[in-house]
Amino acid sequence: MIKLYNTLTRKKEAFKEIKKGQVGLYTCGPTVYWYQHIGNLRSYIFSDVLRKTLEYNGLKVKQVVNVTDVGHLTNDSDDGADKMEVAAKKEGKTAKQIANFYFSEFAKDFIKLRIKEPWKWVWATEHVKEQIDLIKKLEKKGFTYETKDGIYYDSSKFKNYGKLAKLNVKGLQKGKRVGFGDKRNSTDFALWKLSDEKEERQQEWDSPWGLGFPGWHIECSAMSMKYLGSRIDIHTGGEDHLPIHHTNEVAQSEAATGKKFVNYWMHGYFLLNKGRKVSKSKGGLYTISELEEEGYDALAFRYLCLQAHYRTQMNFSLEALDAAQNAYEKIKRKVIELKEMKHKGLDSTKEYLIRFLKAINDDLNMPQALNVFWSVLDDVDFDAGKKLKLLEKFDSVLGLGIKNMKSEGVPKGIKELVKKREELRKNKKFAEADIVRNRILEKGYGVEDSEGKSVVRKI
Ligand code: AMP
Ligand code: ZN
Repeated sequence: MIKLYNTLTRKKEAFKEIKKGQVGLYTCGPTVYWYQHIGNLRSYIFSDVLRKTLEYNGLKVKQVVNVTDVGHLTNDSDDGADKMEVAAKKEGKTAKQIANFYFSEFAKDFIKLRIKEPWKWVWATEHVKEQIDLIKKLEKKGFTYETKDGIYYDSSKFKNYGKLAKLNVKGLQKGKRVGFGDKRNSTDFALWKLSDEKEERQQEWDSPWGLGFPGWHIECSAMSMKYLGSRIDIHTGGEDHLPIHHTNEVAQSEAATGKKFVNYWMHGYFLLNKGRKVSKSKGGLYTISELEEEGYDALAFRYLCLQAHYRTQMNFSLEALDAAQNAYEKIKRKVIELKEMKHKGLDSTKEYLIRFLKAINDDLNMPQALNVFWSVLDDVDFDAGKKLKLLEKFDSVLGLGIKNMKSEGVPKGIKELVKKREELRKNKKFAEADIVRNRILEKGYGVEDSEGKSVVRKI
């Protein structure tokens, strides 16, 4: 039995799929106007671990992840600028070029972090018709109203508005009518925004209400319905989505279909920077490529994420990542050694399988699963061949790349640092070059200069 914490009930519940043996999983994806930072990526490592846990239990998972390339405004109260349009102007490119570029960077991170590709990536701009159809349905049922800048959802018409996030809706809706323009209630939200005549937009479409573009929330309802049906098993996203984005998804989907939209809502908690929340627009957290430039393995970051439960916020620091990198390298050394061993010993597979399954099925308890993983790795009586097979099985959830671990001489991260040091020396920045040399030393490698070339060795 798999137990998952359902935000809807605030309880761990036994998971039961709608259609036997199959799971429909929808994950709120990136807004592709900038690089995804390691905080964003933590949330996809969480949904990856969820998906792999379901698959480990023999379930077939259809995962859909959306790509927001229109309609996500800089301000959650529907009166900011479209993030894609702002980025396109800033970089002097088309919105499509911006979206393609940042999506492909994001897709590279997925591969580096061993996050499985979803069954479908779904792009908002490719589903404008479906979004318009859904808005029409809501209009017909009387859930919408028009203002001078768009079509809005009337949250006071939906009986359970805010239930998911336990919002005090009455308090919110009766609040002072400041800061929400022509909206009837502060919790109302845009379904369709009309283009501003004074402003030139790159992305706009015809609609029954005039030229414009869809609001951010409607894409997730329209696209999840199209690919996974009107009721889905699990929906994931970051904790920040709970009070607005997911609350609105529930309101518009359930109003349109009259059915319960999602059975299990699951939220990944934030990666914090020195205790503070960070967003892509404000910066503050590294990207994976930046960590690699500093000599870290992307998978050391994945390992760091697995050490904390997805329902706890996690403070990011390079010290913590150093420790994770060391642990990850230790795993690598041990696995490589194991691959060369012929040791015959006990077969403890069964006992460890039970312990591992118990950990992952207890609301994805990855810290506990890592404990089991380490117990196996350190079990000297365990038969080498069987041990390796078991670790590979565990890795179908953990995703540390056990199968690919082989002696490769100097690790990639160290090579990057050596290259960086060479460049600094070429530019006569010797003090900075020495700092990089110390960093290489800390990681257990020495670098010497011989006939104008760097010679690296393990110390
Ligand atoms: P965005 O591209 O900003 O729409 O965010 C993509 C995903 O990352 C969403 O599921 C967010 O909830 C999540 N997210 C944003 N910031 C963080 C963070 N600091 N830690 C964890 N998840 C985050
Ligand atoms: Zn969404």
